[in-house]
Amino acid sequence: NQPTSSNFIRNIMIDDLKEGKVDQIITRFPPEPNGYLHIGHAKSIVINFELADEFKGKTNLRFDDTNPLKEDIEYVESIKEDVKWLGFEWDGLFFASDYFEEMYNRAVLLIKKGKAYVDDLSAEEIRETRGTLTEPGKESPYRNRTVEENLDLFERMRKGEFQDGQKVLRAKIDMASPNINLRDPVLYRIVHATHHNTGDKWCIYPMYDFAHPLGDAIEGVTHSLCTVEFEDHRPLYDWVIRECEMEHVSRQYEFGRLNLTNTVMSKRKLKQLVDEKHVDGWDDPRMPTISGLRRRGYTPEAIRNFVRELGVTKGSGIVDYKMLEHFIREDLKLKAPRTMAVLRPLKVVITNYPEDQVEMLEAEINPENPEMGMRQIPFSREIYIEQDDFMENPPAKYFRLFPGNEVRLKHAYFIKCNEVIKDENGNVVELHCTYDPETRSGTGFTGRKVKGTIHWVDAKHALPAEFRLYDSLILDEKGEDGQSFLENVNPNSFEIVIGFVEPNMKEAKPQDKFQFFRHGYFNVDPKFTTDEQLVFNLIVSLKSSFEI
Ligand code: ATP
Ligand code: MG
Ligand code: MG
Repeated sequence: NQPTSSNFIRNIMIDDLKEGKVDQIITRFPPEPNGYLHIGHAKSIVINFELADEFKGKTNLRFDDTNPLKEDIEYVESIKEDVKWLGFEWDGLFFASDYFEEMYNRAVLLIKKGKAYVDDLSAEEIRETRGTLTEPGKESPYRNRTVEENLDLFERMRKGEFQDGQKVLRAKIDMASPNINLRDPVLYRIVHATHHNTGDKWCIYPMYDFAHPLGDAIEGVTHSLCTVEFEDHRPLYDWVIRECEMEHVSRQYEFGRLNLTNTVMSKRKLKQLVDEKHVDGWDDPRMPTISGLRRRGYTPEAIRNFVRELGVTKGSGIVDYKMLEHFIREDLKLKAPRTMAVLRPLKVVITNYPEDQVEMLEAEINPENPEMGMRQIPFSREIYIEQDDFMENPPAKYFRLFPGNEVRLKHAYFIKCNEVIKDENGNVVELHCTYDPETRSGTGFTGRKVKGTIHWVDAKHALPAEFRLYDSLILDEKGEDGQSFLENVNPNSFEIVIGFVEPNMKEAKPQDKFQFFRHGYFNVDPKFTTDEQLVFNLIVSLKSSFEI
């Protein structure tokens, strides 16, 4: 576990411990269970867990479940699974809804202190009277209700006497504050809906700005880390903790959100992609969700290293998706066995190879990691090569197979193309080649050189396999604004091809990862792979222009 590089939040923690402001660092990761976690959440998870860990502190997982209309137990379960898979263990597992009774009592306290009132204005009227950056807001005609009237109305809100939207509880702060968040923010709203945790017990629900600081204070969270959009909510965060007279005073600090090129990073948009079937569920391998990345073949190590490299700053620029790809290549380089796969097969008959002969060739499982040992590859008279490793009329500098040319078959022999067999439409369907027995790999043959090395699989022994090739889900041309992101969905982000893999892949299990020679890294798909058919997801190609 390497710590994140120096960051400003760590420095604050060091000072707070040194000055005795806190005894122990307590952080929390507070997802709303209204969707699956994405790579942006991974940033927050790594920061919260690793910083607390570094100071021998604690991190809670707290579900911010204050909106029953959007939340679901399916999301709760997926979030727990993803946090664990990323390699983190929470100390406490809590729900904001665990604290509804206490939050209600604190709201009553605010009313008694004259710091909150029940308002009959509609959501729209509240928005309209909030004012702007240059103009102060207008006070509600209900702002000066008596404490007794407010207590009575708030209790009746709880009892279910009013419809959704008919009344809200608002903090009484300052309608002329330069910070719009302090212009009497709504603390409670009425929602008649069944909650995944509390059922029908409640029909009033606290707003994020009220529930969040209280949850933090109840749990003794010392450093409440969130993204920069919440920076100007901080005065309200402090107001709630102070005016609700919480014993423990939590403090909020903000860091920059992660944005990635070629993707969208908002649960609302990701849900739309799922609901409108642009993708095959939250775990579609093209999705930037943790579950999608896992199914694509990303490892927790790669994701953690990526996030660590980002560091903890206030800025939230857009990070190149290639940087994430760099970290999965780095992680798999020494771990993933090398093997040969032919994605778009073209049959080659080696006419001078004996009909019934099979020989076993030997190759390293991973030349960069010799400890992984050796593997056996069968070779016989018929093999498959990649369709685009042959051209009948090649351009200059094409060093692969063409009529009259000789290439090296990786781990095997030199072969030379003598004859091209076509179907009635003129498509090339088979090549007839000869091999040179003296050129066998590993024998030290130096008689002559060839410029091209291509991969292959033995036709008789190879296993059929399906390969799922992916490209960016989102084309960034039009920006990510508003609803328009659907226009940017790449219509060509997914392709299925059918080919072959080496016979020793029989043993491959879902989520096993391989490097297919010359193609890239692939993961055995856990959803579509069966006993009969291996299905591979392209994780990432081999080449990269990205440099750290
Ligand atoms: P979304 O807009 O995707 O729904 P959210 O912030 O509403 O994101 P939450 O479930 O509330 O989602 O997020 C839990 C935590 O993860 C919060 O502390 C939030 O700040 C953090 N988080 C969410 N998205 C990102 C991101 N892109 N980069 C860094 N942290 C993020
Ligand atoms: Mg949120
Ligand atoms: Mg959200």
